[in-house]
Amino acid sequence: MRLLSGNEAIALGALRAGVAAAFGYPGTPSTEVLETLAKIGDGALYCEWSSNEKVALEAAAGASMAGARTLTAMKLVGLNVAADPLMTLSYLGVQGGMVVLVADDPGQHSSQTEQDTRHYARLAKIPVLEPADAEEACAIMFRAYEISEKYQCPVIVRTTTCVSHSRCFVEEPEQRKPNAVRFEKDVTRWIPIPLWGRKKRVHVEERMKLQSEEASADEAWNRILPGKDRSLGIVSSGVTALYCRERFPDHPMLKLAWSFPFPDGLLRRFASMADRILVIEEGDPILEEHIKSLGIPCDGKNFVPRCGELTPDRIEEVKNRLLDRESASHKNLPEAEDLPGRPPVLCAGCPHRALFYQLGRFRDIIVCGDIGCYSLGVFPPLNCTDTMLCMGGGFTVAHGIAKSGETRKTVGIVGDSTFFHSGITGLLDVVYNQGNSLLIVADNRSTAMTGHQDHPGTGVTLQGKTVPAASIEAVAKACGMERVYVCDPFDAEKMQEILRTELARMDSPALLVSRAPCPLHQKKRGIVRSVDPGLCKGCGACLKCGCPAIGTTDGKHPFIDSAACGGCRLCESICRFSAIRPVG
Ligand code: SF4
Ligand code: SF4
Repeated sequence: MRLLSGNEAIALGALRAGVAAAFGYPGTPSTEVLETLAKIGDGALYCEWSSNEKVALEAAAGASMAGARTLTAMKLVGLNVAADPLMTLSYLGVQGGMVVLVADDPGQHSSQTEQDTRHYARLAKIPVLEPADAEEACAIMFRAYEISEKYQCPVIVRTTTCVSHSRCFVEEPEQRKPNAVRFEKDVTRWIPIPLWGRKKRVHVEERMKLQSEEASADEAWNRILPGKDRSLGIVSSGVTALYCRERFPDHPMLKLAWSFPFPDGLLRRFASMADRILVIEEGDPILEEHIKSLGIPCDGKNFVPRCGELTPDRIEEVKNRLLDRESASHKNLPEAEDLPGRPPVLCAGCPHRALFYQLGRFRDIIVCGDIGCYSLGVFPPLNCTDTMLCMGGGFTVAHGIAKSGETRKTVGIVGDSTFFHSGITGLLDVVYNQGNSLLIVADNRSTAMTGHQDHPGTGVTLQGKTVPAASIEAVAKACGMERVYVCDPFDAEKMQEILRTELARMDSPALLVSRAPCPLHQKKRGIVRSVDPGLCKGCGACLKCGCPAIGTTDGKHPFIDSAACGGCRLCESICRFSAIRPVG
């Protein structure tokens, strides 16, 4: 037995189930799946950080077509990027088992949306399995590969933040031998031109029907838990089912782990066992609406919140609403408003702060941001981002605003990992269509926000191999970008000069690579700074960079927390009175 998080347990399950190749893109809450697999696989299988989720899914599909068991892992919004190949792959099918691990984020702890991946399973018409904890997560991988190979289709294993990050003891499964690999040529199977695609469409529907029947009979994963009070029966899945069991111990419960295709036979059987059915599901009313479509009356979102994470306390509130009681006053955890506020902030010494500080000195520009640490540039005192849409959207939204007739200069910002993920096509579009935005790559040499993963620009793979590093500036030039600058954001003078020149130009685009490594990733600290109170005039200028190592008791005169200071020298460059100096 080992104490593992859900993500670690998924990696262990995949390894022991004989996965030969794994692909993914980092994104909380899924990141540790591939990191763990690369570590525990110890070279026995192939693991990669792909340049984005679409690439990851396509590569996994290729390996599965050749007969290998594969895994691809991503966060919820990553599936939006990978949705195109997923839809077609459902028709094409796979040879070796293929699991698409998608980690949803109810409560939006680290995501821009709260989208429910089960919608994609319905759209793609492929099975979805939902483990309730780490122990189930490990075991469910075996079941997922069985289903995938039996029906020759990809299978989604859907976790949520709570399942991915909570820990429990996990039984180590036996090692299964990996599949023999050989790609068998068969154009009618692997090419979905309409002639063959129409037959595949029919096959998908037949497959769904068979899967629904098997899911109805799968007592290992779709279980009816007994309860003596049959006035109410609960239907639930994932970790929510465990909370429901805790809060409704006397009522029978249908706990689903193979939740799609819907196990209609089992749903009907369970409905006949209780006077009233309540569906408690996190996210959208997908089960509820389907149960109603079977002609089974049930309650659901009329009592259960649609938004946010369903914690045990929120389920207790559901129970009270159902029983028409006052909401319970007992709470296991203090409410968030009782806790001191901890607004998200760029770390002390972060190079993005220097970039935003310099950019913030220009008025009358529109700055379009993107997903990554640099999205924090929106907060005061930097206040330096006006929009944020999606990965790669920094460049393209800026271009769209510029083409709308807006006369102010637009600036699009993406990170280095994001540039390779989905920034290149945007840059190409700006050049090709003769935009005039200033495009900035906030290059801190790492996929920092998800825990410092490598990417094509770092020259190191997930399995630690040193490879040629892709050059952002060379890619930009190859796309036809004529003016390409590289500047250390802590070099205030040079940065100001570039910005002044380029923000004044409206005739053509330019690319600025703002390059300095993330100090946390480098594990390097510069010389700590301190304030000389004798020289400080209390002008407050240094406070405007928003460094969390700089504090003040009166709003004017700063002090620097030497334990927090990263020694980046930004504040020193801001102070006009030389009151901030290196210590020692
Ligand atoms: S206190 Fe100054 S030198 Fe230290 S991390 Fe903050 S901005 Fe950089
Ligand atoms: S910028 Fe210099 S003078 Fe102004 S408050 Fe900061 S340390 Fe004092």
